[in-house]
Parts: sequence; C-alpha cells; structure tokens
Amino acid sequence: MQDCVIIGGGAAGMAAAIAAKRSGAQSVLLIEKNDSLGKKLKQTGNGRCNFTNRNMQASCFRSESPTFIEAFLKQFSYEDCLRFFHSIGVLEKLRGDYVYPHSDQAKSLVFSLENTMRELGVELMCSTEVKAIRNSGKKENSLFEINCCTEEELKKEKAFKAEKDIKPKKTFKLQAKKLLVCTGGLAMPSSGSTGEGYRFAEALGHTVLSPYPSLCPIYTEEKFVKAWAGVRVDTELSLFEGEELLFRDRGELQCTEYGISGIVVFQCSRLVHSVLEKNGKAMLSLSFFPEFKEEEFLHFLLKRKEERSAQYGRDFLLALLPDKLVSVLFQKAQFPVDKTLSEISKEKIGELCRLLFHFPFKASKIADFTKAQCTAGGISVLEVYPESMESKLCPKLYFAGEILDVDGLCGGYNLHFAFGSGILSGRAMGRRND
Ligand SMILES: Cc1cc2nc3c(=O)[nH]c(=O)nc-3n(C[C@H](O)[C@H](O)[C@H](O)COP(=O)(O)OP(=O)(O)OC[C@H]3O[C@@H](n4cnc5c(N)ncnc54)[C@H](O)[C@@H]3O)c2cc1C
Repeated sequence: MQDCVIIGGGAAGMAAAIAAKRSGAQSVLLIEKNDSLGKKLKQTGNGRCNFTNRNMQASCFRSESPTFIEAFLKQFSYEDCLRFFHSIGVLEKLRGDYVYPHSDQAKSLVFSLENTMRELGVELMCSTEVKAIRNSGKKENSLFEINCCTEEELKKEKAFKAEKDIKPKKTFKLQAKKLLVCTGGLAMPSSGSTGEGYRFAEALGHTVLSPYPSLCPIYTEEKFVKAWAGVRVDTELSLFEGEELLFRDRGELQCTEYGISGIVVFQCSRLVHSVLEKNGKAMLSLSFFPEFKEEEFLHFLLKRKEERSAQYGRDFLLALLPDKLVSVLFQKAQFPVDKTLSEISKEKIGELCRLLFHFPFKASKIADFTKAQCTAGGISVLEVYPESMESKLCPKLYFAGEILDVDGLCGGYNLHFAFGSGILSGRAMGRRND
C-alpha cells in the first residue's frame, strides 16, 4: 500500500512529489507513461521555459470561477514560485516580466526537479501508463485502486491490436491512501497529454467542462494567405464582436499559409473560439503601423506620393513592409501598381492607408490541440478546494495543473499554475496523515 501516488510526471506532478516528501509523506510514487519525465516541460518557451511572470494577477487566467484563481494566488504568489525554484537550485532570469531559468534551458529545470526528487527518495515509475482508477474506500476513508500497464505490455497491446488479436490483460494493480491526478490536458498530445485524466475524474464523480484548445494559431478560409506565408511583422491586433472591442494587443504577427500565429494571436485565440461558437463568425482587424496614428500616417503617404510622383505604384510601400505582405495589400486595395504616383488619386492613397490600419481578417476556426499550447476547460474547479487542490467530492483525491479548468495567458502563467497547484496539493497530501 502506497501513502501518496501521483499520476503524471509533468510540471505539476514533479513539483507535487517534492512538496509531498518535504511535508512529511511516508512514501511518494510518481507514475509517468513516457520513458522520461517532463517531456512537454523541456519544450516550453522554445526550449527556455518561461516558468512564471512578475506581473502575477488573477486577470491573467481564465476559469469558470475567478474566485478560485484569486484564492490560489493568495496561496502561491510570484514570490512563492521563485522561493520554490531557489530551493531546488534554480536561479531566475527576467525578460521584461517573463521569468526563465538563468541557464535559459528548460531541460536544466527538469533535471533540477528530478535530482531533488531522487534526493528526497521519491519513487519514480516511468514507462507505465495508468489505465483506470477506482475508489474502493468508504466515506472519509478513500482507498484508491490504480490499474497500470507497463510499456512492454503497451507495446504488446498495440501489436496485438494491429493483428486484430485478443488484447492481453497483463496489467498490475497498486493501492494508495492519497492520490493526485495531474495528467495534463490535451494540448500537444505527442508529449503524453492525451486526456485520460478526464475519464478518471469522471469515474470518481467529477464534472469535466468540455476541453478546447487555447493559445493557438487562427485559421481563415481566405485565399490571400497562401501569398503571405513566412512574413513576420509587428502588428496591433483587434477582435470585435459587432461594434464591441473584445481584445486589442500588439506583438509580432506570424503570417502562415493557413492564417496567423504568434504570441499576440495566441493571446486572443480563446476569445475567437468563444465568438465563433456564439456567432458562427469572428472578425479581426490588423494594423501594420501600430506605432503611428492613422491621420499622421496618411499625411506621410500623401507627402511620399508628391515627392516620388514619377515612381510606379508598385514601389509605393517599398522598405515600409515585407514585400509579400505588400503584394497582398495592393491586391486587396486594388491599388494601380502600373500607374505612376502622379496618376494615382489621393482617395486611392486614403483607401490604402485605411487598409494598412484596419486590415480585415475573417477567422474560420482556431487550430486543434496539436498546435495549441494549452487546454481551456477541464475538471470544474467548483469541485476542488483552492488551498489544497483536494476534491470536495472524494476525500484524499487531488488534482493539479492543466487538467483543471484553469488556463492562463502566454507569459509563464500556465506553468505558474501547474507548479503552484502541484505544490499545494503535494503539501496537503504530505501533511494529511489520517
Ligand atoms: C509547445 C509548448 C510551449 C509551452 N510553453 C510554455 C511556457 O513557456 N510557459 C508556460 O507557462 N506554459 C507553457 N506551455 C504550457 C505548459 O507547458 C503546460 O500548461 C504545463 O506543462 C502543464 O503541466 P501539467 O503537469 O499539468 O501537464 P503535462 O506537462 O502535460 O504533464 C502531464 C504528464 O502526465 C503524463 N500522463 C498522461 N496520462 C497518463 C497516464 N494515463 N498514466 C501515466 N502518465 C500519464 C503525460 O505523459 C505527461 O508527462 C507550453 C505548452 C506547449 C505545448
């Protein structure tokens, strides 16, 4: 019989294992289906791992219950996060408010977590997938039965399935007094986050709010995108619902053959999803000169027309924007590229200027989980105590990380929540000895 079992060796699981041991847990067993820990964590922040943010506010997170986030941040602040990482030997480096390990290597953060776990005597069981969980205990005295399958057996299972033969049933069972499920959401399924945890939670009586991708690219069905693929340009992006402005932010826009990507796009993808769900359409507006006022830019363009009157229209935006983008803009504005600037009317320059500041982008959908950095939705936080991450429905059952209905903006918020909720649940498990 195990004291504490943790399912999922990602950010939340590793932090929880350390916290549980430090808080007095008799034994801690961490089960991970991959052959190593922190597969996704090693790829975060382009391999540099943006693990928290100095500007830590509840408004940077989304959830069914904002009060849950507020209560969580009271228990695990930005300073608490840095304190934890200092305690495992990780020094931070700031880029603006974004915080990274000083090494700028996500893998060094994973090794620091792993080394600390080994020093504390956490038992690690990799290449082992949890298949099912059952609570065979009564009322306050939960007793969890965990069905596992080793990689060897999984390989056999796949091979047998391929041969349409009978599935082997060589699983083994574990028992635990306290159980933490932190198997992640559905984003980047190749890292191991394939959503089994939702099934476990439902089997134990929990509500799962439909998961959908968050922090992801946005698609369009418009043909012009084929022509701008590869362009990177500073942009101000706005999202409207009718006349109402829902989102406005600046950042580097990455133009792709299917639509748009980049941090500024990720930040509003969740809202685009909601607008699409509600209205069936979502309209974005792009400004390619966010550092200028439209009026003063029009003035600049009209002066440019006068000064270069002998030049052809096709050179009018030369050296102002990337040429692939210029082609798209000229086509959309039906700009007379073969006429000289002296032949082009002021009204036409005005139309082009308007397009430069209000380029319409009709979103058709947001990307799927393979391209998403996070999962919105998940286990309802109304059924979980924010101080301990313990289930309100099943004593001694805990949840942490992306599996819960909490998602943050880009900037280290999702890892802050994964580490923080892991630490709070680990502490609570370690201290609970009834
Ligand atoms: C490309 C990318 C970049 C990102 N960059 C950042 C960033 O810079 N900053 C930031 O804050 N956030 C970032 N995120 C988001 C962040 O990585 C996640 O929110 C965070 O890792 C979630 O941690 P977790 O422990 O809840 O889940 P995960 O890290 O997904 O870990 C869950 C683990 O559980 C294991 N598991 C699943 N099912 C089972 C099972 N049945 N049995 C055994 N084990 C199982 C999985 O293999 C996995 O290892 C990024 C995400 C992606 C995809």
